[in-house]
Parts: sequence; structure tokens; C-alpha cells
Amino acid sequence: MDGTIAIVGAGLGGLTCALALLRAGANVRVYEQASQLGEVGAGITLSPNASKVLIALGLGPGIDRLGFIPHRQWTQNLQTGEILVDRPRGADMAAQYGAPYTHLHRADLHTLLVKAVRAEDPHAIELGRELVAIDPDAQLHFADGSVVGADLAIGADGLKSVVRDQLFSTEPPQFTGQVAWRGVVPAAALDPEVAQLPPGIWIGEKRLFMRYPMRGGALINCAAFVRLDGWNKEGWMIPSSQEELRGHYADAEPHLLALIDAAPEDQLFKWALHARQPLDNWTQGRVTLLGDAAHAMLPFMGQGAATAIEDGMVLARCLTQFGQAEALERYEAARRTRTTEIQEQSRLLGLQFQGKETREFGKTPIKNEETLGLFSYDAVNCPI
Ligand code: FAD
Repeated sequence: MDGTIAIVGAGLGGLTCALALLRAGANVRVYEQASQLGEVGAGITLSPNASKVLIALGLGPGIDRLGFIPHRQWTQNLQTGEILVDRPRGADMAAQYGAPYTHLHRADLHTLLVKAVRAEDPHAIELGRELVAIDPDAQLHFADGSVVGADLAIGADGLKSVVRDQLFSTEPPQFTGQVAWRGVVPAAALDPEVAQLPPGIWIGEKRLFMRYPMRGGALINCAAFVRLDGWNKEGWMIPSSQEELRGHYADAEPHLLALIDAAPEDQLFKWALHARQPLDNWTQGRVTLLGDAAHAMLPFMGQGAATAIEDGMVLARCLTQFGQAEALERYEAARRTRTTEIQEQSRLLGLQFQGKETREFGKTPIKNEETLGLFSYDAVNCPI
């Protein structure tokens, strides 16, 4: 690979791509708008398809050290607590798919990636570099007035991607009708019976509440989703309160309410979930997209970051093996159908989780990330 590759955005997708490219000997610069690196205080699930990529990049020991591998995962009725689905995880999953299913703190995963990128090139990530404009020749214009030319630019700048808006579609992210809450509860603040619940989700009409341990079980990551009209603000840092969240779960079983009651209010945030329509193509001239910039999706399959990580690996492999124009064609051909399908299936699964017939959930086969075979995907070895 000759020339410079500019990646806009040091999120999980951009950093995975940067690391894979640096390992292949490419000259990479990652331009991140934030002045400090970090991730929000929340959890992330790495399903085997994502773990495979990170293990191939040498992050396996770090993930083993920092991650929490669940033994099972429950889907429960949020009013009664009845277990509707009980899925094995743990060793079974690693044996079946060749990589584990792990819960992590987002900041821990982000730090692992940042350290690995900087170990390859200490200057690879430039902070305080907000992209404001770009053209198909990969001329990048930043808020500080500087202009940088690259041989290839990759828009890994998330849901509100400037790269996408400038070159692909000016249609803004659309409100999905879902409002989300996130909170991190110290396990020490909970009755052990609640702290030691297997990871899982509670489901009910128009609602879903997710919980799982991270940092060795010291913290319980919680995310709640409510189908609501009338409020559609974006952002990860809009304060909320136990009272507000409790108001949406007043009829929930006691274990769920115990989590809400123990959630520190200074770490309880809400935001309206937005998504994007699939694009017909991801490449314009010398510029392409990956991750949420290309295919932001609802989180009901836990595949947003996983697909961004897969994109990063597949794009790096294509660029390593083929000339640029052919590499970008092969990248899109390998990735667009899969991610478009996952966008749609995530939306449909959300409707099923939050449907009227909670008691019937799980009695007939459902299309979820596992039954659709998403965990078997191998971005490191798939044909490109
Ligand atoms: P981002 O993580 O959004 O990173 C984009 C980066 O670009 C940021 O660092 C940003 O600061 C930077 N940037 C933006 N604009 C500019 C600019 N103009 N100039 C320079 N830099 C810029 N996915 C999973 O796989 N598993 C899960 O368990 C999971 N749980 C989720 C739970 C919730 C509640 C939600 C909402 C999402 C969840 N996701 C999950 C999805 C996942 O968080 C995203 O899909 C993933 O973070 C996308 O990664 P990315 O690198 O594409 O974008």
C-alpha cells in the first residue's frame, strides 16, 4: 500500500481499521475531533464475530483480562421475572465459534485499541482534529483551518458522520421512536441475589431493560429502551433520574427495580436513538465509509460495534491485497449486504422484544444474532 490513509474518527471501528493497516505496514493517520481520548461509561458486548478480529490483532490477552464471560443469558418477562429463554454462553460459545462472547467496559476496550495503535506508531492518532469538509479526492478540511491531502480517506466518524453528509447523503439520522437510558451500577450497592443474576434482558410491551456484569462483576451495565414519542434529543450525556426511569418501569419485577434504585444518578443518562437508511454505495472517489457512518443500526442485536470492527478488518485486508480502486469495490461487495441485513433484522428483533405478546416470546423460533448465524462470520479469513 503506497501513500497515506486518513481515518476520520478514533472510535472502535476506526481504530480497528487503523491497527490492521499499521500491522500491514501502511502509513495511517487517525483524525479525532475530541481533545482527549476516552469512551463513555457503559458496557459493550463483543460477540464471537467481533472477538475473532480483535484476537487476530493481538488483543486477546487484554480482552481475557478485562472482560467478563457470562455462562448463560436470560430473556425474562419484565413484569413477572419468568425466564422465557435461557441461552448457554461461556465455554460452549467459544468452542462453537472459535472465539468468546464477552462483556467489557467500553473504555477498557477503547484503551486496548489506542495502546495497540500507538505501539505501532506513537503519532498515528491526532486529537482535536474536527473534520468539517471533505471532497472525493480525499482533501480533508479541519475546524482549525488546516487542510490535509491523503491518498485514501475512511469516514469512521459515527452516526453523525460529516464524511457521509458531505459525499453520500444529506438525509440526517432519523429518530427511531426509541428512547434509551444507560447507567452503571456498582455490584456492592446491590443485594447479592440481584448482583449475581446472569446477564440478560427483561422484555415487555414497548420496553426492554438489559443488564450484564463487567470489570470482573464489580459493575453492572444497564441499558433501558422505551418506545416513546415526543422527545427525540440526541447525545450520550443528557442527565436523567431514577424517578424518570422508574416511571417507565413502575410495573416491573423487583430485581429490575432494584437496579434502577441503585443506579448512581450522576451516571444515569438518556438519549433518543437515531439510525440511518442503508446507502446504495459507500465509496466516492478516494473516500469510503465504515461502521456507524455507513450503517448505524438499532442496538437490539448488539452488532453495531461488532460490524464496525468487522468492516475495519475486511477493509484493511482488501487494501493490503489489491490496488485501491479494486480494494474499495471488493470491500463494499464483501460488507454491504451483510450490514444492510443486520440493520433490518435489528429493527425487527426490537419490535419482537417489545411486542404485545411477551408471554409467548421464545415459544416459536426467532431471528436473532445467533440464529441468523452472525457469530460464525470470520472477517479475518472470509473471501474478499
Ligand atoms: P463511533 O464509536 O461513534 O466513533 C466515531 C468517532 O468519530 C468518535 O470518536 C467521534 O468523536 C469521532 N468523530 C465524529 N465526528 C468527527 C469529525 N467531524 N471529525 C473527527 N472525528 C469525528 N455494539 C456492539 O457491537 N455491541 C454492543 O453491546 C452494543 N451496545 C450498544 C448499546 C447501546 C445503548 C447503543 C446505543 C449502541 C450499542 N452498540 C453496540 C453499537 C455501538 O456502540 C456502535 O455501533 C459503535 O460504537 C460504532 O463504532 P464507530 O467506530 O463506527 O463509531
